[in-house]
Amino acid sequence: MQAMAAVVREAEGDFLIEAVDVDEPRADEVLVRIVASGICHTDVAVQRQEINLPLPMVVGHEGSGVVEAVGSAVTHVKPGDHVVLSGDSCGQCRHCHEGAPAYCDEFIERNLSGQRTDGSSPLKQNGHELLGRFVGQSSFATYSLSPRRSVIKIDQDLPLELMGPLGCGLTTGFGTVINAIKPPAGSSIVVFGVGTVGLAAIMGARETGCEKIIAVDMKPARLDMAVEMGATHCINAETSNVVSEIRALTNGGADFSVECSGAPTAVREAVDCLGRPGWAAQVGATPGGIEIPFSMDNIGLGRGIKGVVMGDAAAQTFVPYLASLWRDGRLPYDKFVKYYDFADINQAVHDSATTGKVIKPILRMP
Ligand SMILES: [Zn+2]
Ligand SMILES: [Zn+2]
Repeated sequence: MQAMAAVVREAEGDFLIEAVDVDEPRADEVLVRIVASGICHTDVAVQRQEINLPLPMVVGHEGSGVVEAVGSAVTHVKPGDHVVLSGDSCGQCRHCHEGAPAYCDEFIERNLSGQRTDGSSPLKQNGHELLGRFVGQSSFATYSLSPRRSVIKIDQDLPLELMGPLGCGLTTGFGTVINAIKPPAGSSIVVFGVGTVGLAAIMGARETGCEKIIAVDMKPARLDMAVEMGATHCINAETSNVVSEIRALTNGGADFSVECSGAPTAVREAVDCLGRPGWAAQVGATPGGIEIPFSMDNIGLGRGIKGVVMGDAAAQTFVPYLASLWRDGRLPYDKFVKYYDFADINQAVHDSATTGKVIKPILRMP
């Protein structure tokens, strides 16, 4: 069948909306009519080739939609179900069996190659394959052919076009705090970079009863939103000595930090601001191949840094849980969403990258 998809053809080039052909579902695949898709920084990083994946490719990985058709081996969803799409995993390796699919042995092949594991793609154009399996979905399109483990059923009464970001940004930030850090009530925590992931981390910190929740960013509009989401203190990194301010606010050093920006200076500050003991969760994507020097004076004595992927979450259960938190008013991320028509995808990317006022753009499909 035919669909429209936003194709990235060259580094820094605009997203080009083009007609594509979508395969029929294989036994373990689900055809989803995409209703909406969030734009995540990772999509833009591929467009800019800061994350160096092969092009041309259709990206997008915060899709939500309606099941159109399922393969013969798919039993957990049926046509008409409302679904959120998330990353794929094999379901067979040790990490998948232990409930940690974000650390699946096949995570990179399944999510970043743009292909199925046999090397084929579910999308074609003029008879040629077009990379169309990004994070199990390539959701900047009107249809997605997804592997079954990427497809998560949600309740029909939820606002479907809002739900896509639960599959990446919200899972990543909220999950990092409540699954990976698990801060005891009364803890202090610092969140570096308060886009969607950082704001979700702040909501996780509030949910777990952190006492001091410190947001660090360079954009005042984002810091204002951080306060609305539960931050108790804000530091503008452009005008402040970040580490000494955190030390002053936390009686010598924070219990935890979450680094969501990927900026090398922030990565280092997220370690330097820690108390003893304390640890920094590294979530933001740092530039490829980079080395960051740390003073061992700030790493010893019970401190350290650890990378966390997709909030250490099993998305099949975590996404419905997040949806229920949203329904209860405990995850009010709709306050920082702005909707765009699919045709305006380049404007949406531009607005979110420049102003700091558009934090989570969501594309509505025609
Ligand atoms: Zn993402
Ligand atoms: Zn696996």
